Amino acid sequence: MSDHEGTIDTKLVHAGEIRPGIEGAVELPIFQSANFESVEGEEYHDIKYMRLSNSPNHTVLAAKLAALESAEAAVVSTSGMSSITTIFHSLLSAGDHVIFQDCLYGGTYDYARREFARHGLTCDFVDGDDPGGWTRALRPETRMIYFEAITNPLVQVADLEAVVSFAREHGLISVIDNTFASPVNFRPAEIGFDLCVHSGTKYLNGHSDVVCGVVVGRREPVARVKKMMNYLGGSLDAHACFLLHRGLKTLAVRVRQQNVSALTLSKVLEDHPAVTRVNYPGLASNSGHERARRLFDGFGGMLSFELAGGASAATRLESALRIPIVAPSLGGVESLVTRPAATSHAGLTAEERREVGVSDGLVRVSVGIEGTGDLVEDFRQALDRS
Ligand code: PLP
Repeated sequence: MSDHEGTIDTKLVHAGEIRPGIEGAVELPIFQSANFESVEGEEYHDIKYMRLSNSPNHTVLAAKLAALESAEAAVVSTSGMSSITTIFHSLLSAGDHVIFQDCLYGGTYDYARREFARHGLTCDFVDGDDPGGWTRALRPETRMIYFEAITNPLVQVADLEAVVSFAREHGLISVIDNTFASPVNFRPAEIGFDLCVHSGTKYLNGHSDVVCGVVVGRREPVARVKKMMNYLGGSLDAHACFLLHRGLKTLAVRVRQQNVSALTLSKVLEDHPAVTRVNYPGLASNSGHERARRLFDGFGGMLSFELAGGASAATRLESALRIPIVAPSLGGVESLVTRPAATSHAGLTAEERREVGVSDGLVRVSVGIEGTGDLVEDFRQALDRS
């Protein structure tokens, strides 16, 4: 069976694997070796060295990740942020301009706002729901358009097919952060995105025990990203590769359970009198619901909501919950709650948070794989007390 055949469940387990296994090993061993013996006739580009992301741990992962996303190539890196910043530094030059969706992961937003200018780059932030605004932001020097499949923390789904058409019409590189959806729910290459980035720290690893990033997409831009990563030194070490690889195998079963629990929980929250707003693309009331139904195979494990009692009620809720851990990050087997204004979006000024719609009382939930009924009961008792 080739890497690109079969369902995602089968690809997660078998795509890219070396068969028969090395020394009969069913699992790929950790190649804890910084360099590898030279072979006769080897040229400079054939040299195997850990920083060049070409050990067996790297190449097997890259093949598996490309297969999962129905893409041509992939590379892993030391973090989601290293993948994101390496995309900018490999594909953009001084003078270039980028169109960003306005509500992004705080680290990406911060980097563009505060660091772009030092590299001679400029950018504009646009409403994902207003293609007219994308056209107004366009300049002769625009090179890239960058969106998130599901935004953090408002969990919005923009018209992603329109983003691809817009990019093609104007000769832009289209980039999407697919961290929240995961390839189980959405594969951006299938609708034509050039590049997709993941914080592999989240769903792909799924066990909150490694920080890593992934760039996956068309062969040519991925090769440029990999080359820049070789210069910048963002290669993932072999043991971290192993943890990502091991976590990936159960991605589908984890994400499907998270899809079910998040949908159930979002409906319970929507019906609770203490809750004023629930953001989840699986709810019929959500502005991105129809798009998400069309594009995704599931609505994901992330949701956020606001309480009538604002920030103080949100803090009381965090203390009253018994199952979820109060912590940033997301996508692991354990449920987490956080207030983005105090964590992922704390780097923004209060004014910037207001502009992107992140209130002080917003609570974000990363739904884990605990029992759905247990989670629902826990949120009910905590809401009743906050
Ligand atoms: N993209 C999204 C959507 C995220 O939520 C995060 C981190 O929370 C990142 C990128 C950055 O990933 P990392 O922490 O692995 O650098």
